[in-house]
Formats: sequence, C-alpha cells, structure tokens
Amino acid sequence: MIIIVPIGEVPGDVLAFLQNSLSGFYAKYGIEVRLVGGLSLSKFQHAFDFERRQFLARYFLPVLSYIRKDFNAKAALGVVNVDIYELGLNFIFGLAHPGLRVAIISLYRLYPEFYGNPPDRKLLKERALKEAMHELGHVFGLEHCPNPKCVMHFSNSIIDTDIKSWMYCEKCLRKLEKNLTRSYV
Ligand SMILES: [Zn+2]
Ligand SMILES: [Zn+2]
Repeated sequence: MIIIVPIGEVPGDVLAFLQNSLSGFYAKYGIEVRLVGGLSLSKFQHAFDFERRQFLARYFLPVLSYIRKDFNAKAALGVVNVDIYELGLNFIFGLAHPGLRVAIISLYRLYPEFYGNPPDRKLLKERALKEAMHELGHVFGLEHCPNPKCVMHFSNSIIDTDIKSWMYCEKCLRKLEKNLTRSYV
C-alpha cells in the first residue's frame, strides 16, 4: 500500500485525482493507494522560515515515516499547498527519502496562476501527478533520467515539468518493476 497524506489545507479534487491516477498505475503491481487523514500544518511551525515564507521540506519526512509505519505502507507521499525549499535551493517541487520510503510534494508552484496564467484545474492536476510519480519513483529506487519525456527527468522549472509525461520511460519502468518485486513487496 502507498498512502497519500495531505498536510494543511490541500484541495480535495487534486487529492482525489492523485489517488485515482496513482491507483490506476500501481494496481498493476498489486499495490493499493489510499488517501489517509490529514495532518495540521501547525505541527510544522519549526519548519517555517519567516523571512523566506517557506517551509523546510526535510522536516516533513520523519513525521511521514512515522505515519507510513503506522499503516504498514510501502511508501508515504505527503502533499502540501504551501511553498517548500531545501538548503541551497530557492524552492523545490518535491523531496524524497528512499531510506525512509517517504516523499513530499508541494502544489504551490504548480498552479498556472502562480506564473500569471489563467487558472487551469486539469493542468494543475497533471502537474501534481507528475511530481507524485517522480518522487515515488525516487522512493522506489529510481534516479534522475536523461530522457526529457520521462517523469524521472529533473524539473528545474515548471517548463521541464510540462515537457515531460507523467509516465516512466521504458528503462525506468523496467528498473521500477525490478525494485518493486525485489525489495519492496
Ligand atoms: Zn528528482
Ligand atoms: Zn526514464
């Protein structure tokens, strides 16, 4: 089982889309994807940088790891609607910790409105799915892929995210399948 854990206020239609789409993919490997009760952002006040107005992403990971173990899940994916960063980076779309088998994604910079474009719910959901597939790929042992169409391609900006598909390329998919059967099932 993979659990999706919303942290703070996260739009329900995006969560439902993620749960549906990830279920559709991971069902092939006998892995169920479940949406679990959310956490309050107030638990993560220590992660908030008042000057940057951003949360330090790494602080979410141990809590997600604890919840993952509680559910006896193979992976936990946290979803936030706030801006996140890591040291040395202006912002990040997501962060994964393969050792803990957890990841976090932020929707904050996936809204077309963020870039001055008109709202587009379909585009927002598609971007969120790409980030989720990407970070879960890391959780299951995949690294960045040079193929710009592969979901494991590194997104430096939203343009990279829009260029890539939401699916793993043939090579990454083979590795993922091997990892899922070997060490995680
Ligand atoms: Zn990555
Ligand atoms: Zn690839």
